Amino acid sequence: MNQEPTLPRKRLFVALMGLTCLLIVAIFYILWWVPTKGLANIHPELPGIIGLVTGALAGLALLGTLLLVLTTALGKDILLTRFMRGVVIKFLLPVIEFMGRVLGIQKDTIRQSFIAMNNSLVVSQKLKVKPDRVLILLPHCLQLFDCEIKVTGSISKCVRCGRCDIKGLAELAGKYQIDISVATGGTLARKVIVEKRPKLVVAVACERDLTSGIQDCYPLPVIGVLNNRPYGPCFNTNVDVAKIDAALQTVLA
Ligand code: SF4
Repeated sequence: MNQEPTLPRKRLFVALMGLTCLLIVAIFYILWWVPTKGLANIHPELPGIIGLVTGALAGLALLGTLLLVLTTALGKDILLTRFMRGVVIKFLLPVIEFMGRVLGIQKDTIRQSFIAMNNSLVVSQKLKVKPDRVLILLPHCLQLFDCEIKVTGSISKCVRCGRCDIKGLAELAGKYQIDISVATGGTLARKVIVEKRPKLVVAVACERDLTSGIQDCYPLPVIGVLNNRPYGPCFNTNVDVAKIDAALQTVLA
């Protein structure tokens, strides 16, 4: 008597179970059938077509990898470097991050390698940009925590006391007459880029922020310089100003 109301649920469950079972059987059948029957028996042209497609895909992958290696090794824009940078950013990075996870390699190690690869590809493009179209983008944590001057609005407010690297960076921007901004986060950094419309960005940040910044900004070329974090993340960080100077010298017209 009490079984009646439960019947529809049972039927649904059984139906879904049957459907799942059929799907699994179909997959097993295809897995057995294709090699057993042979591609040629399905259609005489099929082995050739599939061979051509997989061969072309494998060739493209090999050629792309070779091109990437040669471009970074020689530091020359051999062919399609801008496009290759896009492939690295959009396609290779997620795959390599996944491979890294599988192999137990730390995420930051992969990101450091990616940033170096990206920088190498940007430099290989041999871009020459006028100083007024270059932007130096800095994270807020480079400023000394105790400093009472607010440099996020304008770095020119820094009185150059030398207790943090903002002094050296402000002087560097002055030397080359380059725009320089301090952003308190990724959203503000994106806003600064939209407003200033630079042709090239030299950005300082940690591995995570630089990686996402480079991804978000593509196709805008970004040279990433990692900050040092002697007191842990996001607090009184510093950067090698000479590295930024060197990066600027390679791209300034
Ligand atoms: S260098 Fe500039 S930002 Fe840094 S502590 Fe001195 S005044 Fe503040």
